[in-house]
Amino acid sequence: MIAPGETIGILGGGQLGRMLAMAAARLGYRVHIYAPEADSVAAEVAAAFTCAAWEDAAAMARFAADCAVVTYEFENVPVAPLVALGEVPLRPHPRALETAQDRLTEKRFVASLGGTPAPFAAVDSSAELAAAITQIGAPGIVKTRRDGYDGKGQWRISGRIMPGEPLPELPATPLIYEGFVTFAAEFSVILARGADGEVRFWESPQNVHEHGILASSTLPAPPLVRAQVAEARALTARIAEALGYVGVLAVEFFATAQGPVFNEMAPRVHNSGHWTIEGAVTCQFANHIRAICGLPLGDTALAATGVAMRNLIGAEAHGWAALLEDPANHLHLYGKAEARPGRKMGHVTRLRLS
Ligand code: AMP
Repeated sequence: MIAPGETIGILGGGQLGRMLAMAAARLGYRVHIYAPEADSVAAEVAAAFTCAAWEDAAAMARFAADCAVVTYEFENVPVAPLVALGEVPLRPHPRALETAQDRLTEKRFVASLGGTPAPFAAVDSSAELAAAITQIGAPGIVKTRRDGYDGKGQWRISGRIMPGEPLPELPATPLIYEGFVTFAAEFSVILARGADGEVRFWESPQNVHEHGILASSTLPAPPLVRAQVAEARALTARIAEALGYVGVLAVEFFATAQGPVFNEMAPRVHNSGHWTIEGAVTCQFANHIRAICGLPLGDTALAATGVAMRNLIGAEAHGWAALLEDPANHLHLYGKAEARPGRKMGHVTRLRLS
C-alpha cells in the first residue's frame, strides 16, 4: 500500500492530470507531474514538476526517485523510455499503453476476447485502401494507427467511391480502414480495478460527439443503451483482466441493432467520466488514485437521479461568467490560457436530484 503523504508521479500534464492531482491531494498525497510541455495545467496544482522530453532518461530516473508509484493521464506516452522508471511501479501496467496506442493491436486484442470492433483492415498504401474498401465497403474512415485522438488523424471515405476514382492523399504512416458503423447511440463503460482485482463500474452515460470530440455525457442513458451495458461491461472486465489492469479503464461503444460494437479503449481516466465528480459517490479520479495506491475502492453508485456533463470547447469557455450565475452549474475550468478551436477548456455538470 502507498500511504497518504507519499508522492504519486503522473506522466502527462493536461486536465486529466490536473483532476487526478486534485483528487490525490484530497487524500493527502503529493503529486509530481512529468510532461514535455512547459505550460502544464496539471503542474499548476501539483507539488513538483519535471518538464523534460519523454526520452530524457536522466530526468525520468530523477522523477522516479521522487515517486512511490507512477501513473499516466495520456495514452500516447512512448513506452520504451519508461524503463528509466526502474523499480518504481507503473500502474496501469505499460502493456495497457502498448495495446491502446495502436488501433490495429487494440482491435485484434478486443476481437480475441470475444468483442466486436467495427470491421477493420490495416492499410499502408492507396492500393491496400482500395482493397479494404472493396472488402469492407464504404462509407468508412481511414485512421492513423497511432497518435490519433479527438478525431485527429481521420479521413472520411464517402459512400460513393467509384471504381478507379482517386482516393485521398494519405500520409506515409501505418493506417487502418474502418467500416462506418450505423449506431443508435454512443456510450462508454468506465471501471476501476483495484490492486486486488476487485472491479467496480460506474453507470454508463450516453455520449454525443461533435466533429470527433466528446460534446456531452448524459445519465441515465436511454433504454436502448441500457440494454447493451451488461454485454459491454463483461467485455470491458475481460479487457481489464487480460491486461492485469490496475486503475480506471474506459471503453467507448456504439449501440447498434446488432449489440454493442467496440470503438476504442482509453487506459486512463476519461472525459466521459467527468460527471462522476459530482454525480457519483466516488469519482473516477479518486478511485484511480485509490487503485494505484492499493487502497480499497470507493462506492461508484450514482449520487443523483440524473446527470448531464457538457464540455466547454474552445470559445465556449468564454461563457463562464453566465454559467456561474446559475448555482446548479458545477463549473470546471482547466486553466488553459488560449481557447483554441477544438481545445477542451473545461466542462459543466448539472445534477437532477428529485
Ligand atoms: P475515435 O477517435 O476513433 O473514437 O472517433 C471519434 C468519433 O468519431 C467517435 O466517437 C464516433 O462518433 C465517430 N467514429 C469513429 N469511428 C467510427 C466508425 N467506424 N463508425 C462510425 N462513427 C465513427
